[in-house]
Amino acid sequence: MDFAVYDRRTLRLRWGLAICLTVSLAIWYLTDFHPELFAVSNPQWLGRCMMLASTAAIGLYANSLIGELRLHAHDLFRQGESARDFAQRDQLTGAFNRAAFIDVLSARVRDAKSGAPVALFLLDLDRFKNMNDVFGHAFGDAVLKRVGDVLAREAGIDNIGRLGGDEFAFMLTGAVSQSTCQAVGMRIIRALAEPISIQNRTTQIEASIGVAWSPEHDIDRLDLMGCADLALYQAKEDGRGRVACFDGKVMKEERYRRSIERELRGAILMNELDVHYQPILDIAETRVRSLEALVRWKHPVRGMIAPADFIPVAERSSLIEMLGNWVFARVCEDARRWPDLEVGINVSPAQLRRPEFIEMVRETIRRSGCNPRNIAIEITEGLLMDCSGSQVTHLHALKEMGISLWLDDFGAGHSGLSYLRDFPIDVIKIDKSFVQDMRSSHANRVFVSTIAQMGHGLDRLVVAEGVETEEDLVLVRAAGCSHVQGFHFAKPMAANMIDSYVRSRRESRAA
Ligand code: C2E
Ligand code: CA
Ligand code: CA
Repeated sequence: MDFAVYDRRTLRLRWGLAICLTVSLAIWYLTDFHPELFAVSNPQWLGRCMMLASTAAIGLYANSLIGELRLHAHDLFRQGESARDFAQRDQLTGAFNRAAFIDVLSARVRDAKSGAPVALFLLDLDRFKNMNDVFGHAFGDAVLKRVGDVLAREAGIDNIGRLGGDEFAFMLTGAVSQSTCQAVGMRIIRALAEPISIQNRTTQIEASIGVAWSPEHDIDRLDLMGCADLALYQAKEDGRGRVACFDGKVMKEERYRRSIERELRGAILMNELDVHYQPILDIAETRVRSLEALVRWKHPVRGMIAPADFIPVAERSSLIEMLGNWVFARVCEDARRWPDLEVGINVSPAQLRRPEFIEMVRETIRRSGCNPRNIAIEITEGLLMDCSGSQVTHLHALKEMGISLWLDDFGAGHSGLSYLRDFPIDVIKIDKSFVQDMRSSHANRVFVSTIAQMGHGLDRLVVAEGVETEEDLVLVRAAGCSHVQGFHFAKPMAANMIDSYVRSRRESRAA
């Protein structure tokens, strides 16, 4: 009932009751003390009637008061409910906000344990930030509203949440399986991809979806969220606009990746990393010409972790810059001990792409006081293949500083001979897989000798990597390589071992 109408009615009723009460009390009083005023034979009877009337009036009055109090209480409850609803909902889309959605999800996951499975879908818009930046926030808001509408239509407004910026989630209960989840996810992606007009601009919304379901995938609600998040990551990796269902194998790899990433950051700060150096010798194996710097991570619990296990993790995050800078600084410090040797530093494409890279190199060399002619940078063919204008400028800037460029793992990638013509490469390092297969493969023997010939013709040094045996050495020598590196001569070693190794080589030459 409308409270204003109720108010008017009760007010009138109360006035009526008050008048009734006063009149009946007055009559009751007068019948007792001035019965002569009443021209009736039995005024006590009239008094009793008035007493009854006043009791009834009091009763009705009390009843109306209780009614009003109840209505007030109901109204307060409703106000409280809508205030709570306001606090739980995202005002733009009407979806639950993150905290409220997680609460609802927890309850559903509890139910899932007693036989009512629930699937959690995480949806992330592809290139939303770009849209927002280019067309403005009002446009972005309209896109988000549209996503909220599509999800509410598919899953119901009480099953959807906006977890942040362009991140949404929704739940489905009942029969959840890989095929149903895939089908629902694709239906939503297709619905969003339908062209719509926003601010007179026709647009299509692209989204990726990750799904996980309980009780199969999770242990608790956060795990379900984590599983769906990993699936979403997978969907984006697979090329966006896709639905990916949670896969336990990916989870294990991803967990490992994340823990390595977290710990690597700490390891750099805590000085758990080290750099080892592997000698590169001339083909007569008498003189150490240069060293390759190879990073090492001595984990206090896991023991030695190979660079192949953490460099790719660092490359997928901004850590590669931190790690690369650390290695660079450390090598520049160490290189001052070996004025006759050139030290090669492995540089990832992600590092070289950064605009600050050249400044970091210049500044680190200046601070350490090392001679840039003792420093070389190892790059891979992959980098040259995707080389953009800024990277080419960086390569030339390095050369101008006096740093030489080594082309690493040659043969393992696309082996474009044009790189050798177009880029200022000083040293070609033939990938160890070719060197090791020379024993069994005639084609590899031809490949290695062709590269060696070409290197000589172009006045480049050619290093055969991964020389493990005397037989390998004989073969690479026959192929015409000018330098060698491999376990047959020395494994990577700590910086303080290098001097004695170089000395031992010199002594064996003199002997
Ligand atoms: P890479 O640049 O090809 O380095 C040579 C790898 O081959 C080293 O492995 C070295 O220990 C190994 N090796 C040397 N001689 C032999 C041999 O005779 N037989 C065999 N089987 N292996 C040999 P490591 O140190 O495990 O490094 C692996 C990769 O990690 C490197 O391959 C390089 O790509 C990367 N890496 C290492 N340090 C750094 C770094 O400081 N920065 C970056 N960006 N990458 C690094
Ligand atoms: Ca290398
Ligand atoms: Ca290599």
